[in-house]
Amino acid sequence: MTSQRPPAPTVAVIGAGFSGTMTAVQLLRSASAGRPLRVVLIERSGDWGRGVAYAATDAPVVLNVPARGMSAYPDEPGHFLEWLRQRDPDAGPETFARRTLYGEYLAQQLTDAATDALPHGELDSVADEALAVEGSGSGSGGTVRLASGAAIEADRIVLALGNFPPSDPPVTDRWFYRDRRYVGSPWSPAALVDLAPETPVLLIGTGLTMFDLIATLAARGHGGAIHVLSRRGLIPHVHRAPAAGCTAPVPAPPAGGLRPLVRWLRAAARDAEARGCDWRIVVDGLRPELQSLWRSMPIDERRRFLRHLRPYWEIHRHRLPPPILDTFEAARRAGRVTLHAGSLRSFRAADGETAVEVELALRGGTTRSIIVGRVINCTGPTSEYRKLEHPLVRGLFAAGLATPDPLHLGLETADDGALVDAAGRPSRIIFAIGPVRKGSLWETTAVPELREQAVALAGRLLK
Ligand SMILES: Cc1cc2nc3c(=O)[nH]c(=O)nc-3n(C[C@H](O)[C@H](O)[C@H](O)COP(=O)(O)OP(=O)(O)OC[C@H]3O[C@@H](n4cnc5c(N)ncnc54)[C@H](O)[C@@H]3O)c2cc1C
Repeated sequence: MTSQRPPAPTVAVIGAGFSGTMTAVQLLRSASAGRPLRVVLIERSGDWGRGVAYAATDAPVVLNVPARGMSAYPDEPGHFLEWLRQRDPDAGPETFARRTLYGEYLAQQLTDAATDALPHGELDSVADEALAVEGSGSGSGGTVRLASGAAIEADRIVLALGNFPPSDPPVTDRWFYRDRRYVGSPWSPAALVDLAPETPVLLIGTGLTMFDLIATLAARGHGGAIHVLSRRGLIPHVHRAPAAGCTAPVPAPPAGGLRPLVRWLRAAARDAEARGCDWRIVVDGLRPELQSLWRSMPIDERRRFLRHLRPYWEIHRHRLPPPILDTFEAARRAGRVTLHAGSLRSFRAADGETAVEVELALRGGTTRSIIVGRVINCTGPTSEYRKLEHPLVRGLFAAGLATPDPLHLGLETADDGALVDAAGRPSRIIFAIGPVRKGSLWETTAVPELREQAVALAGRLLK
């Protein structure tokens, strides 16, 4: 099926999570009589503004960031808090709002931007899956092919594909990964379906997703044993509101690689504590510098960071709302949750196939077997794009339009977000935003960075 090229320049945005939605909003805000624009926002779930993180759910999951940090607009830092206060007058800057509510907030930004943009800006919301992206040949535009058979011609195309389910952890015999007791995506609505309240569960990974699952299990009245496992058994630190007068130090991280940077971080944290403040202000103060620090680091240094420091960095950077940690610790004290440090060794069917015996190789050299009725992979979004079953990504690789970054954290992109092809050339048509840019930017997964990226990308697309 072919379609007529519309008169106004068209930007097709694939994915309507935070990144795609806010790119569309920023584009629509810039439409004017002198600059008419059509934005086609394509989302396979048919839910606008939600994505994986802010999906509509009964689960009592809350944002990982207090309301003061969740505005969708970099130039209006209080925007989300004001919106929230209209619904909950008790909400304050340190409130951790429900994630489903945040999805409503984003959906409303899109609706408002689409209404305000008329008649110069037009939004087409298309509930469909993008299966392929093709260049036009003339280099002046491209085509997005959809699962329904429709095709959208656009002058610019944005990949806002977001977070992909985790990779299966390494084990010698992978039979269990095809078993119905294994859940490969913790965000799948099927993850907890048919789970009897007393069934013991193993959650692999001890980051923020694991805590979501614990909260969701508790809300469903699950009373069975919960085992949680990660290589080092580390869990995230909690958020703490900065004490009065404790502002982030003016960041002056040293150039020259990882070692001086770690020394600087430790010294700055000690200094903050000595001033009666908290190490968190140092991590938060460094955050706006992270992308340029990452880019300035030689590839071997980045590799060393991933190999040795990443887990320690993650637990300081991605923090938990305090009540979530309290619930977890209470369940641990009651013996309902057991934290294991180690790795998976093998799976064996148990209890006449209704359960699985999992052998763990624990840190310190011992092993332990546990019997559970379900295993849920909470190890975090995969970045091994070469192994994804995603038809669009596969097609981009096959056509040579995309290439993984050297560390296989995402897709290679130029500084302005242009997708870099297999020959190393930045595209003039296809751009990317969000977690797919992790290899180029490292810090590109959360709202404070994504809202800035949406503004910058919209500006770039309109050039
Ligand atoms: C569970 C979870 C909780 C989080 N909580 C927070 C938080 O509290 N605060 C914070 O700052 N950050 C949080 N994050 C980080 C999060 O990555 C960002 O805030 C943001 O949601 C990322 O948005 P995104 O649009 O880039 O990706 P996603 O939310 O993953 O959205 C991508 C969208 O693209 C769609 N899509 C993909 N492929 C196609 C295709 N071929 N065709 C059509 N549609 C397609 C998907 O269906 C999806 O809706 C959280 C992340 C997760 C996973």
